[in-house]
Amino acid sequence: MAKLKILKVGDETLRKVCRPVDEITPRIQRLIDDMIDTMHAADGVGLAAPQVGVLRRIAVIETPNEGLFVLINPKIVACSKEQQESEEGCLSVPGRWGITKRPMHVKVKALNRHGKPVEINGSGLLAKALCHEIDHLDGKLYIDIAKMIEGAR
Ligand SMILES: [Zn+2]
Repeated sequence: MAKLKILKVGDETLRKVCRPVDEITPRIQRLIDDMIDTMHAADGVGLAAPQVGVLRRIAVIETPNEGLFVLINPKIVACSKEQQESEEGCLSVPGRWGITKRPMHVKVKALNRHGKPVEINGSGLLAKALCHEIDHLDGKLYIDIAKMIEGAR
């Protein structure tokens, strides 16, 4: 169990496309545990592996209503036409927020940490977090699509 350093916007690693995980090794399990610890310590809703400098398709998400998800090689397989406009932030962009437009509902296929295929139907905050974290795995940040809110809070 360890807290990892979270890379900040401007770091090139955050702009790279991550490679899929082909085998869930003990090293990957340790990384997942450390990512969960790091997310908790930073009080975040999600964390993607590139944010801690690892270019692999892994993300963790925890929402108050749905609990903890570990996603390996996640893919969005369906998006609702219905959109939500809401405030979004990122642990790699500290102290800033923006308004984004995201699908209200998404369906994601992934592997869990035991390598078992899972399907997640996320709405609202969970849908937003799924989109946000999967974007990280493709080198995309929410600030690319957000209308930023000016001024500190
Ligand atoms: Zn983020």
